[in-house]
Amino acid sequence: MSNFHANLALTKTVLNHITDSYLPAVFASSLAAEDMVLTDLILKGQLPISIFTLDTGRLHTETLEMVARIRETYGADISVYAPSAESVSAYIRQHGMNGFYDSVDARKECCRIRKVLPLQRALTGSKAWITGQRRLQAATRAELAVQEFDTAHGIAKFNPLADWSAEDIWQYLRTNSVPYNPLHDHGYPSIGCEPCTRAIQPGESIRAGRWWWEEPGTKECGLHLVDGKLVRTRHMKQL
Ligand code: SF4
Repeated sequence: MSNFHANLALTKTVLNHITDSYLPAVFASSLAAEDMVLTDLILKGQLPISIFTLDTGRLHTETLEMVARIRETYGADISVYAPSAESVSAYIRQHGMNGFYDSVDARKECCRIRKVLPLQRALTGSKAWITGQRRLQAATRAELAVQEFDTAHGIAKFNPLADWSAEDIWQYLRTNSVPYNPLHDHGYPSIGCEPCTRAIQPGESIRAGRWWWEEPGTKECGLHLVDGKLVRTRHMKQL
């Protein structure tokens, strides 16, 4: 049975807790379905939480167009962080444009340059950051807590949708007429960079189309890792 209403109430409580005690706070949006739920709650609720996205330079056109769709829908601009041109050039010289297919290390280095380093810049000066991660998305997220302490960046990290199912996400988006990335209608439940994401087949796991050539245990881009490991600490009991 769906816990949609309970999950939504908890998410609103978490967001209010953040605005009461953790400002300045930022929301890192991948522009995917989960993140559009949080975008809608933040912008319609006029919460004082900044929203940014990471333009890796390798995103689908449909994903990039979500920035304009957010502006049209809510009259709000979100910040866009790009990787350093020098670092990208150096990577291409060493590994080639698509060197991430050659090894897990080369893939992680690309993610570090195009995602992790821009994320560090985006989080500078914030007390907390927010993500749209859910427990049911992947084996690597099974232990996800609503609140963690991100030791890599030294700030609190909130996952207000940790308990949500995919059905909850779509119920929210449809009920509230929230715009979403059209790739979700074409077999992409999880959307990353274009060369590293493909549509999944019926019965495959949600993230089967992400870095499909790697083992499930390595499938994180580094945004949610500390020293190469997933770290879950300080669960928030009072919420
Ligand atoms: S997802 Fe692929 S293209 Fe995007 S940053 Fe990671 S390795 Fe590079």
